Amino acid sequence: MALIEIEDLHKTYDSGDVQVHALRGVTMNIASGESVAIMGSSGSGKSTLMNILGCLDRPTRGHYRMDGEDVGALDRNRLAEIRNRTLGFVFQSFNLLARTSAVENVELPLVYAGVSGRERRRRATVALDRVGLGARLDHTPNQLSGGQQQRVAIARALVGQPKIILADEPTGNLDSRTSIEIMALFQELVASGITLILVTHEPDIAAHAARVIEMRDGKVTSDQVHAPVPAVPRPADDSDDGDAAGLSDRDRHGDVPDLNDVDDERFPL
Ligand code: ADP
Ligand code: MG
Repeated sequence: MALIEIEDLHKTYDSGDVQVHALRGVTMNIASGESVAIMGSSGSGKSTLMNILGCLDRPTRGHYRMDGEDVGALDRNRLAEIRNRTLGFVFQSFNLLARTSAVENVELPLVYAGVSGRERRRRATVALDRVGLGARLDHTPNQLSGGQQQRVAIARALVGQPKIILADEPTGNLDSRTSIEIMALFQELVASGITLILVTHEPDIAAHAARVIEMRDGKVTSDQVHAPVPAVPRPADDSDDGDAAGLSDRDRHGDVPDLNDVDDERFPL
């Protein structure tokens, strides 16, 4: 049985008198343990699909079953439960709380889940260890490079022990070397049994997934399985782009305090 089954999914946004048909009949099954990259130009419906897969939004029409359960028939509480227990989210812009330590950011989903303080700290520490940031628990986002911030966000996604990670353009704000590190981490998570669904518009990134789905105008135009390219991070001191903070030029901010702090950027294999 597929972990995710979606059938003839449609989504229409009503903005004033204009209707936008963001999804026009999307059908796909995703099995447990798959890694799937969803590609397509801007406006093709990728984020709309991810929001529905993530139980953050409902389709206008069509069916969505997760683990055999009809998601469309669930009430808000049950949807929130699925989000907390089954899904982990990773975003392009990390979405970390500023002035809040890495470990506190990772603990946040457990606060909502009512886990005790001591147990929260323990699980968040394990999750940060898993992404190679066990030595950065007390750093705030502005004391971390872009790649490290995204790893904190991945730890936050992992802390509830999800079956599925949904990542919308997770490397969109990162330089190419850091992007490969993040993809190496994702490949490790997939090897451990997690199902990964990620959105990207970079073919090089998509190649690290075992299945590539292309969308255009709200429809799937191609769906192919191939051998994923192993993501092999380059050593930090081999960087020829000088992008030590791991942020791409367009997203480099003045608030990254130590651009040379790259020792831990090397992902421990
Ligand atoms: P992608 O992520 O592939 O760039 P989106 O799923 O964000 O595409 O958007 C698909 C289409 O739906 C676009 O035309 C976009 O403008 C429209 N759209 C997305 N979200 C909304 C919304 N909340 N309200 C109205 N239109 C939206
Ligand atoms: Mg999008």
